[in-house]
Amino acid sequence: MSYLVFARKWRPQSFAEVVGQRHVTQTLMNALAGDRIAHAYLFAGPRGIGKTSTARILAKALNCEQGVSREPCNSCSSCQDIGQGRHLDVIEVDGASNRGIDEVRELRDNVRFAPYRGRYKVIVIDEVHMLTEQAFNALLKTLEEPPSRVVFILATTEPHKVPLTILSRCQRFMFRRISTAEIKERLSLMAREEGIEVDPCGLQLIAESAEGSLRDAQSLLDQVVSFSGPRASLEDVRTVLGLGDREQVHRGMELLLDGNAGDLLRLVEELYGAGQDLRLYCQNLVERCRELMVDRISGSSFPSLDPLSTGSDALPGKAESLTYPELDRMFQILMQTEMEMRRSPYPRFVLEMALLRIVEGRRLTSLEELWRRLRQMEERLVAGREREWARPAASPTSSGAEVVGQEPSTPSPAPNRERVPTRAMKEEAEGEGGPNWLQDPRWVDFKRLIRREKVSLAPLLEYFSWVSPRGKNLLVRIQGSNSYLLEALEDRNVRRILEGGIRVAFGEELRIQYEFDAQGGERVAIGTEPEPAKPSSPPSPKGSLLEAALEVFEGRVVSE
Ligand SMILES: [Zn+2]
Repeated sequence: MSYLVFARKWRPQSFAEVVGQRHVTQTLMNALAGDRIAHAYLFAGPRGIGKTSTARILAKALNCEQGVSREPCNSCSSCQDIGQGRHLDVIEVDGASNRGIDEVRELRDNVRFAPYRGRYKVIVIDEVHMLTEQAFNALLKTLEEPPSRVVFILATTEPHKVPLTILSRCQRFMFRRISTAEIKERLSLMAREEGIEVDPCGLQLIAESAEGSLRDAQSLLDQVVSFSGPRASLEDVRTVLGLGDREQVHRGMELLLDGNAGDLLRLVEELYGAGQDLRLYCQNLVERCRELMVDRISGSSFPSLDPLSTGSDALPGKAESLTYPELDRMFQILMQTEMEMRRSPYPRFVLEMALLRIVEGRRLTSLEELWRRLRQMEERLVAGREREWARPAASPTSSGAEVVGQEPSTPSPAPNRERVPTRAMKEEAEGEGGPNWLQDPRWVDFKRLIRREKVSLAPLLEYFSWVSPRGKNLLVRIQGSNSYLLEALEDRNVRRILEGGIRVAFGEELRIQYEFDAQGGERVAIGTEPEPAKPSSPPSPKGSLLEAALEVFEGRVVSE
């Protein structure tokens, strides 16, 4: 007794039998009933979901000797001949192997003649996207002036490769992947009718493995029954599908959770020795990992890929010790590994290294925790700096115009906006004495702060050629001078931002004093003013760092 080729035997004979494509079949049946037949149809969708079967049913319905109706009768000689692929008016062409212009020309010549015995000539071109450009052009000419009584049905898995000129002349139908439930139902029906007993969980596994293709599901069932005979157990199905031994997957997962590198390597060797497909094994680990993650997030079992899985109970307690990021990391590594194993000539080594990486990674977790705490500290420091930034700019050293509610005892310096060349300053600066803050690592912080505060100021900083503190002033030498630059730097708001940035980055309260390299090499100073009488106390960034560290690590100072 042979169970082979279920797919052919169970090919749908009527629209009602087509599984999972009601949105297509209903429309076609209505068109047939209303005699609204298009000249060309495009059936698009993944393979094995009923495109050519539907095309054949349509051809039968169009040529049925009982007359055009919603369904073919399937008993007249026309229906029978079309069903067996020997009707002269129904031509099925495989676009992949007949992709040239000659084949399409032949079709064109053929459709010029009236149907031999039926009402319509039906041309089915499968995998139409494979046609050459010339062939498409020839086909387009035919579609532009379609002969009467000819119906083209173009089927494709890749509609995006079909020229728009062709697409626009077709009535298009998108066939969808068939749901696992629909496939399983169909498989159950087939098994019952064929007198086969398949474990229901096994049927579910077959339906899932087929990934939406009924034809694939049917041929998998063929293989299972060829292997097991009319009684197929779950283990039979697992063996044929190459899903391997669940126990081994379970053990591998346990060892991963335990971080037992030695036993993991021994397990891989064992599987390898037993001739198991290691890539499939890795796939199974990915699935288990996914289940653990879904359980962790949803708090309850989610539809599992494996009907046997008992969700979170599958690994009692063990998985609880993993954080979600750890599970996620494991999942990412296993996924990546599965892909690498496809390409690598040494899939076993790829798997071994990945398992070791996961185990080692778990050991490093405490370091990750430390890193997280450091990040936390850094964020607090930045937040602290931003609070500092938000402080009002008013201070004894800022220019009088900006000061509000200043104490009368403080001298109120008038801002000096004249450009006064000061020989003394020039000489002092030419000695290039004092630190150049442009070389100071804190300058990078300063630039970052400025960019964040007002991005349009960042380019101005590139004109600074020398920056150095002089008492309560900050001497800033500017390379070149143009009126735009002068205006921009003299702006009160710009000064406030720059001085604020210096305060935050360097922890010093300084008044910026510009010195321009004018033409002729003479320098021009701007914003010079006497040093204020009252010194300000700069905030100590070191203090705040210590404070933040103590807070984050919950520590205390044991010795100064
Ligand atoms: Zn018929």
